[in-house]
Amino acid sequence: MDEQKLKKLQGWVEEARRMVFFGGAGVSTESGIPDFRGEDGLYRQRYAYPPETIISHSFYVHHPEIFFDFYRNRMLYPNAKPNIVHRKLAQWEKEGKLLAVVTQNIDGLHQMAGSQNVYELHGSVHRNTCQKCGARYTMEELLTLGDVPKCPKCGGRGKPDVVLYEEGLDNLTGALDAIRRADLLIVAGTSLTVYPAAAFLDEYPGNRLVLINKTETPRDDIANLALHEKLGEVFERL
Ligand code: NAD
Repeated sequence: MDEQKLKKLQGWVEEARRMVFFGGAGVSTESGIPDFRGEDGLYRQRYAYPPETIISHSFYVHHPEIFFDFYRNRMLYPNAKPNIVHRKLAQWEKEGKLLAVVTQNIDGLHQMAGSQNVYELHGSVHRNTCQKCGARYTMEELLTLGDVPKCPKCGGRGKPDVVLYEEGLDNLTGALDAIRRADLLIVAGTSLTVYPAAAFLDEYPGNRLVLINKTETPRDDIANLALHEKLGEVFERL
């Protein structure tokens, strides 16, 4: 751990009154949910189709069996629990230091840890909707509706409220608003290769932009502080 950098971050967190945290899949790897592009990530595994193809809107429409097989086996982690990162962010919100969490994750772990103001850009596995009658289902309910979930009310097909490739991001306005108002922006556990999310950093007007990621990202150069560490190890010390 780079102690000098950590000390600077500790000071900034201490002083923050309107912190915003912008996170990606790396926030939940220490809860046992693999990321997409990290060393054990989904994109390093082999499937008959590339993951980007399987989790696209047109694939959901035309190949629902393969879509749901992948979705259940690779994207749902019903037993995952929040880790120190989720818990500390919820605590900072309660203490009035943190304005919002903006997340690319779909696992709901920030809310499970107690965070209230969470902008989910890519939706959530915990909300599901019948495409025909609009009935809503929890993740647990969806799992009881068959291999390709069939609505018990109308026979329509269920769909997770997860933003698929070819679909637009959720909650853009709220997320960008929060980032523009932040006094400290911590960007963590994201490879910053997916746009437009990666461009959010450009909306932050201040000079306390912190990047925490195990590996380098294409945006390290614009950070005021970049730490290449495991998130859990950094957050244990904040
Ligand atoms: P990504 O997989 O592209 O990148 C994750 C980054 O986090 C990698 O650079 C990796 O090195 C880093 N990382 C992993 N574990 C870390 C740790 N413990 N400490 C520090 N850094 C760590 O993730 P992304 O940019 O968020 O990818 C975007 C897509 O992945 C999103 O669309 C998101 O919806 C989806 N996704 C979500 C989940 C989830 O909900 N938990 C899981 C996998 C993928």
